[in-house]
Amino acid sequence: GEVATMMDVPITKVIGTCMSLGIMVTMNQRLDAETLSIVADEFGFEVEFITTDIEEATTVVEDNVEDLVHRAPIVTVMGHVDHGKTSLLDYIRKTNVIAGESGGITQHIGAYGVTLENGQKITFLDTPGHEAFTAMRARGAQLTDIAIIVVAADDDIMPQTKEAISHAQAAGVPMIFAINKVDKPTANPEKIKERLAGMNLLVEDWGGKIQSQDISAKMGMGIKELLEKILLEAELLELTANPKKPAVGVVVEAFLDKGRGYISTVLVQAGTLKIGDYVLAGKNHGKVKAMHDERGNSVKEAGPSSPISILGLDGAPTAGDKFNVYEDEREAKQIAVKRTQLMREQSVRTQKHITLAEIGRRIALGQFKELNIILKGDVDGSVEALSDSFSKLSTEEIQIKIIHKGVGAITESDVLLASASDAIIIGFNVRPAGSAKQLADKEEIDIKTYSIIYDAIDDLKDAMEGMLSPEL
Ligand code: GDP
Repeated sequence: GEVATMMDVPITKVIGTCMSLGIMVTMNQRLDAETLSIVADEFGFEVEFITTDIEEATTVVEDNVEDLVHRAPIVTVMGHVDHGKTSLLDYIRKTNVIAGESGGITQHIGAYGVTLENGQKITFLDTPGHEAFTAMRARGAQLTDIAIIVVAADDDIMPQTKEAISHAQAAGVPMIFAINKVDKPTANPEKIKERLAGMNLLVEDWGGKIQSQDISAKMGMGIKELLEKILLEAELLELTANPKKPAVGVVVEAFLDKGRGYISTVLVQAGTLKIGDYVLAGKNHGKVKAMHDERGNSVKEAGPSSPISILGLDGAPTAGDKFNVYEDEREAKQIAVKRTQLMREQSVRTQKHITLAEIGRRIALGQFKELNIILKGDVDGSVEALSDSFSKLSTEEIQIKIIHKGVGAITESDVLLASASDAIIIGFNVRPAGSAKQLADKEEIDIKTYSIIYDAIDDLKDAMEGMLSPEL
């Protein structure tokens, strides 16, 4: 309705245009940014977005180069179950206390920082696994600078190893391989490196650029070297942030403590968070009453890349929610109300992610350059055959990118990756497992399943030519 008034065209025409895009709307419904642009374009208008996402509005101010300081890399540990992610995080947590730092890491606050002998710091996210990593990304928060992919040397590259690799790659996060359990007599790190090479992932020993380190998380072997490699990778990334501004960052976890109230762990990405700051995180807000680090110390300030647990919010925000600091309590409250409203409307929001039926239109409009596909199948042969055929359908206008492929049912983690990377999921002789279907419905992810290879290829071809009739 509002859009129609702004463009001075009948509401029915706007609704009609939406329907031709395959989106059923009512006049009171709010359209997402992408649909708005397409609809406006149909009527010869261009949309300029004024953000209600306050984070964007407040960070518009460019940082002065001289204010930028080096910040610690933020690292996530991923890999197949039982390959040693938790053991690695535990070992680093237990051993890495430099002299002079008061006490060891005693609190599980969702992230922790360590200081190496040379004084350099690394921040680890304490929730291992690519699911947590991608769930955050699906919420629009990318915290991780470097991903450690743990592979057990007495095992092999397993399905979740592949997933972790795809998830890191889709996020554009550099990887370091930690080849674990080398203390075991059956360990064969060379085999792992060979397997990685077979996946086009060349580690340094194999003449490639990807760093890898043989470790034993149990015995503590190679961990020091691994930490050094993280710092080396971080150096290449030239990570900096401006500490001289109000803090912005991301919520890592939050819970209600019976005695103390809501406790939220946040990771400061830029700026400095101080006691007394008025914080808005997701739809929760409040004044920071106290802050504690992972060693249980009470602190007054937290700068870039610091994990810190804060007391004072009026509820528990969700992991992946962004937080900002406001000068004015009233302003923060108003935005909190607006956000709650927006979230409610967004639950009835129209199509958020790409669908097969929509591809042709988007290509025709020239706004769509890359189609991300997640491909799952029952056997390796058909997955490879489909992957090859799909890639060959790439044209000058549109690049087909298989961001993840694997054998097995379509999982929640596939759906999360699709949501974070705006991808469609294609299953060959497999279906969504367990709650993956519900999650896909919620995230509005298009899942197509086939049992004949040519049907899948034809559908994609048709979709790209805009020939696929919208589903009813
Ligand atoms: P996660 O599921 O990836 O977090 O794996 P865990 O850290 O829980 O480790 C799974 C099992 O492997 C546990 O029994 C660990 O004790 C064992 N483990 C982990 N790292 C090593 C290692 O370096 N050497 C040996 N021998 N066992 C390990």
